[in-house]
Amino acid sequence: MKTIASRSRVPTQTRKALRARNGNGHVSGSTKIKISSRVAAWLKKPKQNLIGGKWAPAASGKLFDVFNPADASVITRVPDSGKEDINRAVSAARRAFESGPWRRLTPSERGKLVWKVGDLILENADELAELESLDNGKPRAIARVADVPLAADIFHYMAGWATKIEGNTIPISVSYAPGSQFHAFTLREPVGVVGQIIPWNFPLLMAAWKLAPALATGNCVVLKPAEQTPLTALRLGEIFLDAGIPEGVVNIVTGFGETAGAALAAHDDVDKIAFTGSTEVGKIIVRAAAGNLKKVSLELGGKSPNIVFKDVGDLDVAIAGAANAIFFNHGQCCCAGSRLMVERDIFDEVVEGVARYAKKIKLGPGLDPSTEMGPLVSEEQLNRVTNYLRQGKQEGACYVTGGSRAGERGYFVRPTVVKDVKPSMSIVREEIFGPVVVAEPFTKVEELIPRANQTQYGLAAGVWTRDISKAHRVAAALKAGTVWINCYNILDSALPFGGYKQSGWGREMGHAALELYTQTKAVVVGL
Ligand code: NAP
Ligand code: MG
Repeated sequence: MKTIASRSRVPTQTRKALRARNGNGHVSGSTKIKISSRVAAWLKKPKQNLIGGKWAPAASGKLFDVFNPADASVITRVPDSGKEDINRAVSAARRAFESGPWRRLTPSERGKLVWKVGDLILENADELAELESLDNGKPRAIARVADVPLAADIFHYMAGWATKIEGNTIPISVSYAPGSQFHAFTLREPVGVVGQIIPWNFPLLMAAWKLAPALATGNCVVLKPAEQTPLTALRLGEIFLDAGIPEGVVNIVTGFGETAGAALAAHDDVDKIAFTGSTEVGKIIVRAAAGNLKKVSLELGGKSPNIVFKDVGDLDVAIAGAANAIFFNHGQCCCAGSRLMVERDIFDEVVEGVARYAKKIKLGPGLDPSTEMGPLVSEEQLNRVTNYLRQGKQEGACYVTGGSRAGERGYFVRPTVVKDVKPSMSIVREEIFGPVVVAEPFTKVEELIPRANQTQYGLAAGVWTRDISKAHRVAAALKAGTVWINCYNILDSALPFGGYKQSGWGREMGHAALELYTQTKAVVVGL
């Protein structure tokens, strides 16, 4: 049976018609905010794919519209690429990997090029933040202090690894060759041609998390950004050329998941696919990859418990933390603290506190400096989130605040706090990916842990308590790739990130990322 989160592919024409029906109401601030002359000039240039170091239109010549989610207006058009474009990009990456200058660079030279990309991201930070805000809807100020510098940071961090990818020497015994001597060692080599498919919630940052480790380890890449947010990836393509990354090492192809994405995941000459997005599409990727058994890494969804104990100490800090855990990036975070579990004695106080935060959040277009939360990324996402909200109401949940779309223009949803929920409800079980938190009380740790783990996901969790041994015991019992204690949403280039259970395969960032993008060769020398 299809869940309401299932992907229903709405044909482009229908989507356009739906968008055209949007009313003229507004949330706050003007959507007619002036775009800087630099970004306006960049948007006017025709958008093409980056293949083999050159910009090229889609083989079909087709384009699709890119929308501003604050008012549903068309910002620009990008190539609607398909199998032929993916074939060309994979061939370019293969040439660059097998015979281009990339593999002949010393690790130090390669590291310096990767570092340079980080520098150029910082040099263009204002422009990238504005473009990200326009395309995705997030506040420009947030993109400027979070998305863009973090994207630069992962290039700087990974650049350092280029010179530190080492194998081992291994003393071997070989009992069936008595008297013989061997020198055995391992090499860590790049996987080869890597396909990367990314989502729309942090478009630039997800591109950076994927590209930086792949390049630092010497791979060549074909990247497909999300259809909703292709712009900063294309701007990043220009930065790669400016940095002097050799042609064909990074190829960027825009298009839809079912066409360009599917062709990349299934391509027989792609050695590895790295994917971030929904668990549902993650499973499609795994099936597509089976054809040539390419390596697969997956960073998927979450329904993360954020647990507040009554001995938390400063309740205000925990309330602010719980609000940030769900409302950051409009709840469009794979690690969002979307299940707030609170010890019964303080349940009402915490829920009311988070609801107070929610009510104060100022909604508006990302480019309005006073905006604290922008629109959701697309009409499809607005419909998905409001469907969940309707379903929760029908099932009898109590909405403390929010619970509906805000305004009639753009894709805004009111920050929402829900209580009186049951484990069987879809809003408790499924990833909503919007500013919606469900709150549940608990009385005993023994009852709490199985409930916290009662989900197909295992990406992240939060624990708020001053009792240090309880904090460690609970962290150990939670089945999650990341546990935050007395904090939330703390991510760092040096910290491995990824999921237990159906939240993914492998760990991105930190030195764990080297595992994803290298393979081990054992070499044995008879002496
Ligand atoms: P999605 O479909 O999983 O999209 C992620 C990426 O996969 C996009 O680049 C998408 O392309 C591509 N894709 C889609 N179908 C594909 C296929 N058959 N083969 C290869 N690639 C394919 O996610 P979504 O539709 O944008 O969002 C749906 C839900 O996924 C959200 O509500 C949320 O629950 C979850 N999500 C999770 C994350 C995360 O970080 N874990 C991020 C985004 C969304 P197109 O963009 O062109 O479809
Ligand atoms: Mg999509």
